[in-house]
Amino acid sequence: MRQTTAIENSKPLPAVSEHHVDPHSYPDGIAFLDGQYLPMSQAKISVLDWGFLHSDATYDTVHVWDGRFFRLDLHLDRFFGGLEKLRMTIPFDRDGVAEILHDCVALSGHRAAYVEMLCTRGASPTFSRDPRQAINRFMAFAVPFGSVANAEQLRRGLRVAISDKVRIPPASIDPAIKNYHWLDLVRGLYDAYDRGAETALVLDFNGNVAEGPGFNVFCVKDGQLSTPAIGVLPGITRRTVFDLCAEAGLATTAADVRVAALREADEVFITSTAGGIMPVTEIDGAAIAGGKVGPVTSRLMALYWQKHDDPAWSSAVNYR
Ligand code: PLP
Repeated sequence: MRQTTAIENSKPLPAVSEHHVDPHSYPDGIAFLDGQYLPMSQAKISVLDWGFLHSDATYDTVHVWDGRFFRLDLHLDRFFGGLEKLRMTIPFDRDGVAEILHDCVALSGHRAAYVEMLCTRGASPTFSRDPRQAINRFMAFAVPFGSVANAEQLRRGLRVAISDKVRIPPASIDPAIKNYHWLDLVRGLYDAYDRGAETALVLDFNGNVAEGPGFNVFCVKDGQLSTPAIGVLPGITRRTVFDLCAEAGLATTAADVRVAALREADEVFITSTAGGIMPVTEIDGAAIAGGKVGPVTSRLMALYWQKHDDPAWSSAVNYR
């Protein structure tokens, strides 16, 4: 009897459909991709891009508050540093990238925005496994400002769980290259949700506190601030806390932060471009600072937002 093949038995090929995306299922914003400005719903990349297939990408996020970028130069420094370490090239210099970011925000019309610049390894026309064959792809976008902590959490402080997941060690990935290796952080988040907390902290390879999904962490003990030194992204908001503390005469160090030290802290807060300085008032179900936002945290939060219209720390978006 003649063997039939799967192909012969198969149904006719389906038609290739035009893919229409509901623009309302994306945040309102503007992206720059492959030389064009597009609504977020139209900004798409190939499934063959190494950024997607291998998480081979670097990025940076800066925010706009009240029509002004906050510390854009520092974000550009970190982004271009990451590109160099990953041996990626883009057809724009710093001024060119800055101009694209200004344009994304101006076209979006947002006065408060979350603005991302990113570069993926891209794809090779021959699907080569050699990253040198890939054509690097630069993108940027501006969407409405978003925060790790919502308004209620900012007022009463976040409930955080310490997960036993370990952040990818610096010997594997230099954390100064801001990256999308987030499986440890996402697994930490699920640990937190399972325990009734709102977000997570994960550990470094020595079992000390590292960072969380999109933020660094600080603790305050007897007026002295400390934040993990190793295995964490050198956050711009973390750096800003150091700068604010220098101005305010507060002592701050980057050093190992033991889990026990965090639990025993007088105050704990987290830092991110997505939200700034955000209080933590509960760790693994136990109250920190009697469950209230502490005085050092409150003072730094106020100073942080005051700097947003200071020309030494911020620059006006060119809305034209
Ligand atoms: N740590 C991680 C893993 C992050 O992704 C981020 C920001 O996205 C931060 C820390 C905070 O960095 P920054 O203050 O520069 O936003």
